[in-house]
Amino acid sequence: MQASPTLAQVALPLALPHPLLYEIPPSLRGQVQCGHRVAVPLRGTRAHGIVVGLTGASAKSAGMSLRPLEGLDPADVLLAPALLSLVRWVSRYYAAPIGIACETAVPRVVARPPRSASTAQSGARGDGQPIAQEDAQSGGRKAGGPDAPEGGADTRPPGTPLSLNPAQAAALAPVVAALEAGVNRTFLLQGVTGSGKTEVYLQAVATALERGRTALFLVPEIALGTQVMARVRERFGDQVAEYHSQLTPGTRRRAWWQAHAGRARVVVGARSAVFVPLRDLGLIVIDEEHEPSYKQSETPRYHGRDTALMRARLEGAVTLMGSATPSLESRRNVEQEKYVRLHLPERIAARPTPRVTLVDLRSKQEGAAPSIGGLDVVGTGDADRGEPLSAYLRERLQAVIAAGDQAILFLNRRGFSTAVQCRDCGYVFECPHCSVVLTFHRKRRLLRCHYCNHELREIRACPECAGHDFAYTGVGTQRVEAALAEQLPEARVLRMDLDSTRRRGALATMIADFERGAADVLLGTQMVAKGFDFPRVTLVGVINADREMGLPDFRAQERAFQLLTQVAGRAGRGNKPGEVVFQTYQPEHHVITAAGHQDYEAFYQRELAERQSLRYVPFRRMANLLFDGPDEAEVTRVAEAVAQRLTGRSGVELLGPAPMPLSRLKGQYRWHLTLLAGRPGLLTALLHDVLAAQWARRGRPRVRIQADMDPASML
Ligand code: ADP
Ligand code: ZN
Repeated sequence: MQASPTLAQVALPLALPHPLLYEIPPSLRGQVQCGHRVAVPLRGTRAHGIVVGLTGASAKSAGMSLRPLEGLDPADVLLAPALLSLVRWVSRYYAAPIGIACETAVPRVVARPPRSASTAQSGARGDGQPIAQEDAQSGGRKAGGPDAPEGGADTRPPGTPLSLNPAQAAALAPVVAALEAGVNRTFLLQGVTGSGKTEVYLQAVATALERGRTALFLVPEIALGTQVMARVRERFGDQVAEYHSQLTPGTRRRAWWQAHAGRARVVVGARSAVFVPLRDLGLIVIDEEHEPSYKQSETPRYHGRDTALMRARLEGAVTLMGSATPSLESRRNVEQEKYVRLHLPERIAARPTPRVTLVDLRSKQEGAAPSIGGLDVVGTGDADRGEPLSAYLRERLQAVIAAGDQAILFLNRRGFSTAVQCRDCGYVFECPHCSVVLTFHRKRRLLRCHYCNHELREIRACPECAGHDFAYTGVGTQRVEAALAEQLPEARVLRMDLDSTRRRGALATMIADFERGAADVLLGTQMVAKGFDFPRVTLVGVINADREMGLPDFRAQERAFQLLTQVAGRAGRGNKPGEVVFQTYQPEHHVITAAGHQDYEAFYQRELAERQSLRYVPFRRMANLLFDGPDEAEVTRVAEAVAQRLTGRSGVELLGPAPMPLSRLKGQYRWHLTLLAGRPGLLTALLHDVLAAQWARRGRPRVRIQADMDPASML
């Protein structure tokens, strides 16, 4: 027998370059394991961290006087070996301190087991709410067996699997084979909007469960995931737990511990669910794999999809990711035979993809114009100039409402107008802390910064010229809402954006209301654009199809194509065919025409060629070093010094340093230095080089440096 380890390496949730060493007191020897959470003394207080290493040497022999651990808290191992390996990978690959990576995987809110029902304070719905009760509440049903009756989807009780069409069956078969063989394999399910990807996911999950394994089902964000989550619950009942940051801490903690205890066999959740301790993980589903919200925008800046792929590799699981508009990275991985492509080229029941009409916002002639790229075009009349709804879109809305159908209107901008400008001197109200204009919110008559929430409650006079005449330029969702109220008073409108869904539960209520037909029009920001399946929607209107294309980001066209294709894909998912209206100033743009035809291949080939000529992602790997601080000159100086230090490293190309497009945010000046290399390992090593020096220093530096490996946004 080997002697029990006497020293523990503890990763504390602090920006430290290494874990700290503590002595294991005799009372705890033989008990402490890697992955345990322990209480330790730290600078006169008590802190908690995760044990990431154990050694046998004694403190004295190492010539150190070390302080002892104070205890295990809780007694369970929170990070099993595979998950600990995953966290180490996140820490290394994304250049984040190990303790911060541990904290992300096991946040403080889940670190303690929920108290049992009998000990819950007040005995009511506290942390101790029994699981069965919670599941009964959400309508938990047992999984429908594979022996479900044949027939149409609508006649079956909820929770019963649908019988797959031939394309779905062909897509599912290799996934089932991989699950049966128990191999680590990655599939990319590329299927047009409405092709029935969700049913393939659900049946893959059922297969994993039948094989005695568990499944993780990732959705990009909660707004998108709400309907999917309901479907997973419907199908698998009380084996399902939800896990995401919008849950109350108690619910989140219960979900985590249900998975830990093996009682939850399916976990549906957003990015952070990738760390939930499901045992015997067999399958990871990644819905809408292209979504940028899978990337965390603070340290550790991990990508949920890529972290899931690493977890699947570590645990020998199968990954099934899907999208109608795969990211260029994933699609190229198919070509390089890293992923297996599964294809659903048609909508369910051979429903047509929706017909797209372009409203040319430049033309002064109302009515039909020559078609562009095979798409119908109509002009706007002069009378409509500056109005959010063109005459054509208004007319289509009227027709849809009269027919008792539903419409979705999409505008990726909340608030009333985007800006308030002085008509006398041209002054535009800007946020004093961020380099962005303030957005006018009509209901409360205030200007608000959409980055830092700074509010200007009164607009009395222009601060530049003391003028009183203001123009409200640009359009936000509240402005469209007002236009609808005026021009289509009969329409019952639901507005879905960050402002209208802040309250917990508001989003789910809105979705349910729209589903049961309590409104005719669902108007909103990108929340309404993706993922939803509302079979009664026959019309989708895009108020401004050009907005995303103009953003200063190398992925702007990819994002625009994805968003337009996804939003168009919300129309005609039921028995009636759908129609889509794009209002645009650039009707000839290839992104508009490709999205208009739901033609991923056309877009992909063209965009890929462009990326290749620039030797950008996915042909090389990218990392961003972010610098921010309150003093512009210091930020510039540090960014330039780092660039100087990295200049001349072989195999790495530097772009910048330069101010970021959003050059000031919440009072902080922002610069970045972009690194490109053929292999990610080179970049990771450089990021660690730069950051280790910062982590070793105490206190908050005047200029903070952060690493963003595989950045999802350059703004
Ligand atoms: P996607 O995710 O590919 O956009 P969904 O999975 O939402 O598409 O499916 C679109 C619609 O088709 C849904 O209403 C779904 O219930 C229905 N559907 C999917 N598969 C089948 C099937 N095999 N038989 C009948 N209806 C199906
Ligand atoms: Zn601001």
